[in-house]
Amino acid sequence: MIGDEVFMENGTNDIALEYFRRLSDIATASFHEGEICSEIKNILIPFELKVSEDEWGNLYVESLVQKDNTPVVFVAHMDHPAFEVVEKVGNRLKIKVLGGHSKHVATTGLKLKVIADNLQAIPASILGVEQNKYKDTSIDNSDWLMVDYLEARLDQNTEIGNLPRPVILDLPPFEIDYGKEFIWSRSADDLAGCAAILAAITQASKRKFNRPVTALFTRAEEIGLIGARLAAQSGKLNNRSMVYSIETSSEIDGVKIGDGPVIRVGDKMTTFHNEPESLVRWYANQISKRSDSFKYQRSLMDAGTCEGSAFGSYGYNVSGIAFPLGNWHNRGKNSVEMEYISMEDYFNGVSLLYEMMTAKSPIAVTNSFPKISQNIKNRLKQSY
Ligand SMILES: [Zn+2]
Repeated sequence: MIGDEVFMENGTNDIALEYFRRLSDIATASFHEGEICSEIKNILIPFELKVSEDEWGNLYVESLVQKDNTPVVFVAHMDHPAFEVVEKVGNRLKIKVLGGHSKHVATTGLKLKVIADNLQAIPASILGVEQNKYKDTSIDNSDWLMVDYLEARLDQNTEIGNLPRPVILDLPPFEIDYGKEFIWSRSADDLAGCAAILAAITQASKRKFNRPVTALFTRAEEIGLIGARLAAQSGKLNNRSMVYSIETSSEIDGVKIGDGPVIRVGDKMTTFHNEPESLVRWYANQISKRSDSFKYQRSLMDAGTCEGSAFGSYGYNVSGIAFPLGNWHNRGKNSVEMEYISMEDYFNGVSLLYEMMTAKSPIAVTNSFPKISQNIKNRLKQSY
């Protein structure tokens, strides 16, 4: 059994897996998050939560509680690195790169799926990079694709509907390896974060929230945290809120897949804040006291920039929880591959979110030192 005893609500782990599978089954890309958003709304129907959208299509899910405790916001993004068709001549396509990809995607013959406007997935493949795009030798040293457009072709000349249409890598959507206890998804970044928040908030709504909780599902993160920046700028969230980025983040030195979700002290761009981090650590330590299977890590996950930095730069107090991720942005050793996270890390992350939503905490957790005793002070006042 993995982390089960942590839960007051039985079956939360199964629900968390089910939500992750349901979201992973859907093709997603920056600007093309509509289907994921609809599925999240479908999942939320039976629960007593307030659901709304802002003018940019970010989705807000709020607890219906009036309490003075500091509000918390858990933010995850609905998109994943992908492409979109911007030109189609016969079966030849010009596709725009949306988000960070490995150089593997420029391999001639690499399989893609174009999502037609009737949502049918049409098989296609990469022809290559537009000519004269790799001349800069500095670019060749990078493992990442440094071009804006690729050429591709549809396997058959079919209508795909009005452009732009989303294009994703042709990878299996979701698999569980019960032997290694890994969850594989073609888009764990960040559907794992979305599903984890959803599992926690829906289960918490059946019990009792201890504070105002908002789940925020954003758009277009992979092309520059656009949805999060607009949400932060809009001031729609209470400015006292502590905002937590719930993300996957590439496994780095000092962090291990399977050693627990990571309390994230910062990202590539900024360091985060003490107050929200102290609060999440306080909760994590509470769970650790009663559950042997619960573990967590703490690190500055600086492989990428996350939505914590977006909210931090607009004055919010931010922190984060990250699931250490393998095959970040589908970058396998020799080709594109599904991403993966540890199942136990995932369940422990859901436990932590659930705990933060439902369990009481001290009003202020700051991880400050205790008072220094008069005894010690007096000793230091004496000579050496
Ligand atoms: Zn992400």
